[in-house]
Amino acid sequence: MKIGIMGGTFDPIHIGHLIAAERAKEGMGLDQVWFMPSNVPPHKTHSPGASAQQRWEMVCRAVADHPDFRPFDLELKRGGVSYTVETVKQLEQLHPDHQFYYIIGADMVQFLPKWHRIEEIVERISFIGLQRPGFTASTEQLSQFIAKKVTIVPMPMIEISSTDIRERRRRRLSVRYLVSEAVHQFIEGNGLYET
Ligand code: ATP
Ligand code: MG
Repeated sequence: MKIGIMGGTFDPIHIGHLIAAERAKEGMGLDQVWFMPSNVPPHKTHSPGASAQQRWEMVCRAVADHPDFRPFDLELKRGGVSYTVETVKQLEQLHPDHQFYYIIGADMVQFLPKWHRIEEIVERISFIGLQRPGFTASTEQLSQFIAKKVTIVPMPMIEISSTDIRERRRRRLSVRYLVSEAVHQFIEGNGLYET
């Protein structure tokens, strides 16, 4: 099977993530997309607003009604800093029969050269990149050895980020429709991101 891996902090998961996954699935003919929250992301400095358990719960809720989306706890279970190079090696061992594609937004496409041990990652896996407001989803700035493993798939510009959602919550503004209704209810029910 062709499997898309949608990794992220998902603090919280929002419709930008879901639309990106759906477009990647459609554009590349993926069979499934697995949504994998990172435990501790390598390149983020802010401490997350929600716990790992809460981020996981929101991912489960967000993907529950899609027949081909799955929550995937590989990095949460592994613990520690979630280095992608470790993840792709684990994926190879666990599912040698599957073909994996990493789904990333344009901010991450630009950041790829700075990923920890990117040489080993691109030897093992391909990327699907999607555009995102404020960033260029292009492989032109990338060196050839990375660029040849990245396919850009079209997506409508979705000007939503988890940072904005946390900020809106802090200011007591609505996040309805920015996240799926099941996630919205979880955020409100648990008073997430209010402080
Ligand atoms: P934060 O503001 O906390 O960084 P985020 O909205 O960027 O949150 P992440 O969990 O960091 O969400 O992102 C996970 C993946 O989803 C990344 O590859 C990111 O580029 C992609 N992504 C997030 N939001 C969008 C969006 N609106 N459009 C396209 N891709 C997105
Ligand atoms: Mg981000």
